[in-house]
Amino acid sequence: MKEEYWSINQASEYLGKSIITLRRWDESGDLTPDQITDGGHRRYSISQIKKRRVQLELKKVQNKKHTFFFDFDSCLYPGESLEEIIEKAIGDNPKKIQKIYDIGRQGMEGKITITQSLSQRLETATITQSEINQWIEEAKTKIDPKIIKLLSQLQAQEHLVYIVSGGFTEWITPLMTSFGFLKDHIYANKCTFDQQGNINGFLSSNPLSQDHGKSKTIQSIINAGGTQGWRCMIGDGATDLQPFTDHIIECMVGIGIYQQRGSVQEQAPIYCQSLDELQIFFEPFI
Ligand SMILES: [Mg+2]
Repeated sequence: MKEEYWSINQASEYLGKSIITLRRWDESGDLTPDQITDGGHRRYSISQIKKRRVQLELKKVQNKKHTFFFDFDSCLYPGESLEEIIEKAIGDNPKKIQKIYDIGRQGMEGKITITQSLSQRLETATITQSEINQWIEEAKTKIDPKIIKLLSQLQAQEHLVYIVSGGFTEWITPLMTSFGFLKDHIYANKCTFDQQGNINGFLSSNPLSQDHGKSKTIQSIINAGGTQGWRCMIGDGATDLQPFTDHIIECMVGIGIYQQRGSVQEQAPIYCQSLDELQIFFEPFI
């Protein structure tokens, strides 16, 4: 992506700060221009200025009640659930397993659509309920207790907390409700089943199986009056960034703890590469 730049006038207008403040920030090293023109004028990358505005707004909104939307895979859960469950169904076939992960990654990076990514992965194996149950039991021991504590602290402070995932409710809901998470606050895809009770596809009318699905889902939660204060998405993937870049929510926290994705790292106004960094971000809210 080609970087675009603003003059100090444009940056000052967008940030609602005077040119004098921006010059002072330059001198103190708080906000350094990305370029100086031949004529000596400061040029700021637009992405840097947008990040700065989120940080300034964040200071103003601490200690109020907000809404947090968490991604599930590689965010709350330290892996990719659909891949892991398909892996169980496939058995010992490293080539086929690698293909599943490749398709999943292409979806995460926005190289193929979410619908393509889901159908191509589900086509490769027949998933049974017993494989799902087995995965849920294992997953209970894999989620970091710090994450569970964070979710309950946020809820105790009366923030609204949701899970918005491109994964599947068939395993996310039993897993997360076992930790006391509210069933009504989990938004995820839904599987379809054959007559034997095995998964044979997914419900394509669910917005989360479509392009910009997280934006559509969050928009419908907002329309139904289900949010308060600042709205913030927390996630690792390109689809988690969309509600922010689609201007539906005010903030996005990129998660680079389990997976690092370039587009998210570049564009998320906040980026956390460890659980400690994530806890520091949330400290003012809990
Ligand atoms: Mg994810």
